[in-house]
Amino acid sequence: MRTRREMEDIEPYSWEKSSREIAQEFDLPVDKIIRFDLNTSPDIPQELLEKAIQSIPRLKIHEYPDTSYRKLSSLLAEYCEVNIDQITVTNGADEALDIISKVFLDSESNVVVSDPTYSMFRIVSKIMGAKVKGVLRNEDLTDNFDRIKDAVDEGSRVVFLCSPNNPTGTCISRTDLLKFLQSTDCAVVVDEAYYEFSGETLIDLINEYENLIVVRTFSKAFSLAGARVGYMCTSKKTADFLNKVRPPNSLTVFSLELARLALDNIELMKSNVSALEIAKEKMKKNLEKIGLYVYPSKANFLLVDFGTRPPSLIQSMLMEKGIVVRDISSMPMLQRCLRITVLREEQNQQLVQTLAEILAS
Ligand code: PMP
Repeated sequence: MRTRREMEDIEPYSWEKSSREIAQEFDLPVDKIIRFDLNTSPDIPQELLEKAIQSIPRLKIHEYPDTSYRKLSSLLAEYCEVNIDQITVTNGADEALDIISKVFLDSESNVVVSDPTYSMFRIVSKIMGAKVKGVLRNEDLTDNFDRIKDAVDEGSRVVFLCSPNNPTGTCISRTDLLKFLQSTDCAVVVDEAYYEFSGETLIDLINEYENLIVVRTFSKAFSLAGARVGYMCTSKKTADFLNKVRPPNSLTVFSLELARLALDNIELMKSNVSALEIAKEKMKKNLEKIGLYVYPSKANFLLVDFGTRPPSLIQSMLMEKGIVVRDISSMPMLQRCLRITVLREEQNQQLVQTLAEILAS
């Protein structure tokens, strides 16, 4: 077959094993597997689903969705405090990253990422044939804007940033970003997939900087990962480019309705975020009590340092008990770490207890 040359060195996005595979391998019931590796919310949003059931009979499922996604865009404009023509709705944040790469990148371009960070930034860039320059963060895992600035050259087309960053849980300093935006005209992407957990946003800066793209999702705080709804906030000029590339109908009428209901019932998301914030603080303290270093996190996950104990071994020992955490120890600066999503308190307690037993053995 004659695939594009870029296919040769693309490593696809990798997940931990599926619950079914883990259940089979360790002879566990599949419903006993707890996923602390996905950074999603722990509960099915029952109230939203009940409201969705009531609206299903009215959905125009025989027609394509309105390709401008006008109803949802207008609610999002209100939620983000921007104009409707500054919103581009996508099939999850990952489609947003894909669209960005198609608008800005080719085999002549290069991209800067602030390592360690979300692996899709590299993947979407490499698919377009772009070269990726990884720049190391500061010791406290915040972005090092001096290094980022040095890495940007004439060939740079996109700088991918993430706030709060997956997997470090750190936010971008507004002052540093402002200075950086003043120094460059290449696209600066800020992935705010975990924004609602931090309450810190850089969206207002899109009015001043036409090269700033903020990416968001309903997958995390809104508990709708399965619905696949994301969006971008940008200048109108950038939105016009994004719209040239965006597939006209990548969302379903069901997903659009779920996202609409989620914004119409914003208090449900807010109470999920507050509950997870309380659970996170408890989990952090409990992990510290068993002797682990836990980085401060502004997201719904914790980055945990296991010191001299190999993280991959700890991860497999947890997996044998049906507890799945994310092994990110192959990432630069994180050789001693695992990433753990905050779930319901009783689940978090189960994880801490199992870890305590493993560490004592
Ligand atoms: N950005 C970041 C930083 C993420 O962690 C994730 C999910 N792992 C995504 C984007 C993808 O989000 P979505 O489900 O909306 O595609």
